[in-house]
Amino acid sequence: MAKEELECSFCGRKKPETSLLIAGLDAHICDRCIEQAHGIVLEESKQSDNSELSAELMLRKPLQIKEFLDEYIIGQDMTKKVMSVAVYNHYKRLLQSPSKDDIEIQKSNIMMVGQTGTGKTLMAKTIAKMLNVPLAIVDATVLTEAGYVGEDVESILTRLLQAADYSLEKAEKGIVFIDEIDKIARKSDNPSITRDVSGEGVQQALLKLLEGTTVNVPPKGGRKHPDQKFIEVNTENILFIAGGAFDGIERNISKRLNMQAVGYSASKSDDVIDRNHLLQYIIPKDLKDFGLIPEIIGRLPVLTYMDPLDAKTLRAILTEPKNAIIKQYEKLFEMDDITFHITDGALDFIVEKAVEYKLGARGLRSLCEEVLTDAMFELPGTDEKELKVTKVYAENKLNKTTIKKLKAVS
Ligand code: ADP
Repeated sequence: MAKEELECSFCGRKKPETSLLIAGLDAHICDRCIEQAHGIVLEESKQSDNSELSAELMLRKPLQIKEFLDEYIIGQDMTKKVMSVAVYNHYKRLLQSPSKDDIEIQKSNIMMVGQTGTGKTLMAKTIAKMLNVPLAIVDATVLTEAGYVGEDVESILTRLLQAADYSLEKAEKGIVFIDEIDKIARKSDNPSITRDVSGEGVQQALLKLLEGTTVNVPPKGGRKHPDQKFIEVNTENILFIAGGAFDGIERNISKRLNMQAVGYSASKSDDVIDRNHLLQYIIPKDLKDFGLIPEIIGRLPVLTYMDPLDAKTLRAILTEPKNAIIKQYEKLFEMDDITFHITDGALDFIVEKAVEYKLGARGLRSLCEEVLTDAMFELPGTDEKELKVTKVYAENKLNKTTIKKLKAVS
């Protein structure tokens, strides 16, 4: 009897018709079926990835996203609200099943305007933490147009890949925070004199990235590794958040508001304008007048502002956020079995100094460090099991010279 010919148990192809037939316990599978099965596995895992995201969204509606932000960030209510909606919509867009109708939801990239140290980076970090997606923080000032000294805009995606541990899939759903976007404003109104390679040139280069495109990214970054293989990154689902201080933009806003006031009903608009906090009236045109090109502004459609931090907010930043500075010191001392107390008077004094010397929220940390360094150096390993920091104690540690030193650093 002729020996029974082996065949694929899935598709029935005979052995000679296949390039490879792998034997199992009492079945066989051919190369084509393996490939098909692999495709199915990939597809399935993509879907379950999406369902992870959708579970995240089911869990957190904009209101809950804001509540999460509230745990880490003090104040900035308007931005938190705007961000919650933008982030929610962005991820809804990712879940949108492809073209059932012709409505394509556009990206909700975000532009945050506000002085340095008001929590812009913290906002981006907190959102990335909440969504458990990789975050790349890049400084727009180091970018230049391709071919010039500096970093190409693709380096942004190198960072994101690194933050995602080189998982392309994770990187493509990540968040990029571009800091100091105001520094790439057009340098002058007359673009013809010299080529503006770190200003308008970078803005042009960023356009495609923001909108969604496929970019060849050098995984190791830079131009130092010319031999590396490029990775293709699709930026379609990457959320871009840009932030900048836009020093002096209040003047543009004020000018515009004045003009409006003259043109329309002067008395009516005048009594509602808060002249001390003009940023809240910012509109895209102000960014254009500052030197951003309209195309960039259009690709960062969600525009929001950060409030300057007043003493009350600074005081709350010291103690209230989930990982507030004072809570961190408590924990550090606790690890040495030392109970750490700080009086309200001492906290108020630290805030007072931060305001007086315009050190902002970043200065709070350095001020605390100055107050506590001696104790952190001396107490561990002694019998002392308690540290009480009073206003007098803080005053002694924070004399004028130490504060001046902090001011120079910040
Ligand atoms: P920016 O990006 O606007 O320059 P950051 O987000 O880097 O400012 O803020 C600097 C530090 O100040 C943060 O690490 C954070 O500890 C603190 N901080 C600033 N604003 C806030 C805020 N609104 N709530 C809590 N902490 C804040």
